[in-house]
Amino acid sequence: MGKLQDKVAVITGGVSGIGAATAQLFAAEGAKLVLVDMNEEKGAAFEAELKSGGYEAVFIKADVTSEENVKNIFDITLSAFGKVDILFNNAGIGATKATEEVTFSEWRKTVAVDLDGVFLVAQAAIKEFLRAGTGVIVNTASMYGWVGAPGNAAYNAAKAGVINLTRSLGLEYAERNIRVNALCPGFIETPILGETDRDFLTNATPMKRLGKPEEMAKAVLFMASDDSSFMTGNSLIVDGGFTAQ
Ligand code: NAD
Repeated sequence: MGKLQDKVAVITGGVSGIGAATAQLFAAEGAKLVLVDMNEEKGAAFEAELKSGGYEAVFIKADVTSEENVKNIFDITLSAFGKVDILFNNAGIGATKATEEVTFSEWRKTVAVDLDGVFLVAQAAIKEFLRAGTGVIVNTASMYGWVGAPGNAAYNAAKAGVINLTRSLGLEYAERNIRVNALCPGFIETPILGETDRDFLTNATPMKRLGKPEEMAKAVLFMASDDSSFMTGNSLIVDGGFTAQ
């Protein structure tokens, strides 16, 4: 029996990078998957790949910043699988620009996806979890929610917001059988890194390598499963030692 046998997991940003690696691991542990993303092409391909591996998966094209899209995610999940047990609230975008050059609309776009979207999807999941009497949320924050860095102000502020949102939700629902924790990755080799100089990121990391999406997936599995049954309102930093410096 898998650690997530017959659990239904909604994964936002679920067709790329950390979300896709987590989807693979969750499926191998027995979960049924609802993959949420804006990227329809990758979504359709990944859904087909999982199904051909014998797993149950549904892709939903949705923007986590749209209230209507978010409601739709849970309507489709309930009609496909009848319940939802786990939310991996992971969709996010990067933003690197000097503060004096950032427009207000760029700032708002980053905060909309990286903080507002996390709130919206968590809120919709919590409504279902309260009905069911149980549920687990893992939010993706970042090591940059713990430490500052130049040229990333909106992203870093949004990710720090996710960490304190996680603490607050963990406390708010602690007595109602809903656990809420956050993953704080370091530099992980995924498409979000874009053209960023890999040598620079590697050298900045004490373990002198980038993390792999599969290494994040294992930490998410811990927080999504009963292995972390006494953990809530907390954050797990998995960053090759970056924030220990
Ligand atoms: P990724 O780009 O591979 O995956 C992010 C996914 O989110 C993409 O598939 C994208 O289409 C989707 N997405 C973006 N905006 C969306 C929206 N509005 N609605 C729905 N889906 C949307 O990158 P990743 O590294 O796997 O990122 C996953 C999470 O990890 C993000 O929250 C990111 O901020 C966080 N993170 C990544 C790193 C890293 O170094 N890779 C470090 C710290 C935190």
